[in-house]
Amino acid sequence: MSDGSGLLLDRSPDAARVSLGLVGGAPADADGDYLRVSDPATDEPVGWVPYGGAAQARAAVDAASAAAGPWRAATPDVRANLLRKLSAAMLDRTDALARVLTREQGKPLAEARGEIAYAASFLDWSAEEGRRVTGEYLEASGANRRIVVMRQPLGVIAAITPWNFPAAMITRKLAPALAVGNTAVLKPAEQAPLTAMAIAALATEVGFPPGVINVITGDADAIGRAWLGDARVRKLSFTGSTEVGRLLVERASTHLTRLSLELGGHAPLLVFDDADLDVAVRATLSAKFRNAGQTCVCPNRVYVHASVHDAFMDRVQAGIDRLVVGYGLDAGVHIGPLIDDAALDKVRVHLDDAREHGAIVRTGGRLGAPRAGLSPRFCTPTLLDAVTASMQVAREETFGPVLAVQTFETEAEAIALANSLPYGLAAYAFTRGLARALRVSEALDFGMVGMNETTVSTAQAAFGGTKLSGWGREGGKWGLEEFLEVKSVTFGV
Ligand code: ADP
Repeated sequence: MSDGSGLLLDRSPDAARVSLGLVGGAPADADGDYLRVSDPATDEPVGWVPYGGAAQARAAVDAASAAAGPWRAATPDVRANLLRKLSAAMLDRTDALARVLTREQGKPLAEARGEIAYAASFLDWSAEEGRRVTGEYLEASGANRRIVVMRQPLGVIAAITPWNFPAAMITRKLAPALAVGNTAVLKPAEQAPLTAMAIAALATEVGFPPGVINVITGDADAIGRAWLGDARVRKLSFTGSTEVGRLLVERASTHLTRLSLELGGHAPLLVFDDADLDVAVRATLSAKFRNAGQTCVCPNRVYVHASVHDAFMDRVQAGIDRLVVGYGLDAGVHIGPLIDDAALDKVRVHLDDAREHGAIVRTGGRLGAPRAGLSPRFCTPTLLDAVTASMQVAREETFGPVLAVQTFETEAEAIALANSLPYGLAAYAFTRGLARALRVSEALDFGMVGMNETTVSTAQAAFGGTKLSGWGREGGKWGLEEFLEVKSVTFGV
């Protein structure tokens, strides 16, 4: 049966393929319905998870609260050791985890393997950085006073994650939160929760105490409400749509729960006339088409200087024509399926709108199964020319393998176009000019800028956006700060 939102709910799942999640070190309570997780490329069931709600959300917070005191009291070294063990266990099981990830999410197996390594890197990095949390000692303006500034864990934190990076979005939140002494309740996305379940199982296996990591699945709205309605939850870290982010902001007003919000992006990519075109083309192709274009930092709006437009387009098209669309578990595939029917519909609507308003499809633009036995949820990598600012592809995140190209004449125009939308996650620019690179970096109103580079997310860097792309940063020392309270203690001496 379906709950009306496209979710497949079953009363009697295949018991051998049920993942229950984790609450207080035990399988999560599983009364009621189960959510079927389907392979987006084949529609076959990959597994089932409980469809929990407010009761499960409360039970998870109970468990995390009970574990919070001892976990906070454990030394940073103890916490670091466990985080490193979890990272090692994930790397040991890369193949098994990557297969689960590909089956539930669709990305090619090589990319899924890369994501497991990337996800593990947050655990290692936070393990080390968690040992370097320091305070401060200050002299006060009064002679007989001294001030000590302490940085302490918040307590219980919640995380709600999306489906496009089912492993990395979990560890990017969990690792810094745990490293500095918080315990966590977590809800992965309904489309791809099984990788998170597998990571939670590994955490138990390597010895994380019960209740430090709790993972539940189910009704997102009910779980989110329950967590933001519970004063014990001191922070919610969310990655997802701007629309849901706004809802969470409203609901966080009850207890003034702190929020980190990594929301939608609509990344511009500028190619100046002095760019190294080979570098620009290579970087554009890899950033745009990984994960079938379903990445919040992937370039969505490409602005090319009119004088290099033809050369850029020819090279990009040649690169696109080498990309293979297919099932993520098949060898040699670069582009897998879109996650669900809604994602396919959005791509279709954007392509139709672009064609209708005069865009030229240089290559791609075909929707449907690439071979027998696969679902129709595929789109060939697409290059759109003669795009204009009013087309949907130029205004909204397409979240599909569509590269939409416009031209510009001057640097000022390129910057104005890049900054013209209310999103501010990532932006990219390609130029050989040092002064221009600095000028453009300063002028782009985005949380992240890739200058002659499109890989902007690593464990050391600060990941996050401005404007409608959200608040807060993940990764680096900034990622840990998000999970610490600053306490000022004044001593009379
Ligand atoms: P996307 O469009 O990428 O699926 P969403 O914002 O819908 O982005 O989903 C991101 C995460 O937010 C998922 O885990 C989803 O279950 C969760 N989510 C969706 N709606 C709500 C809600 N009303 N309250 C809390 N979480 C939600």
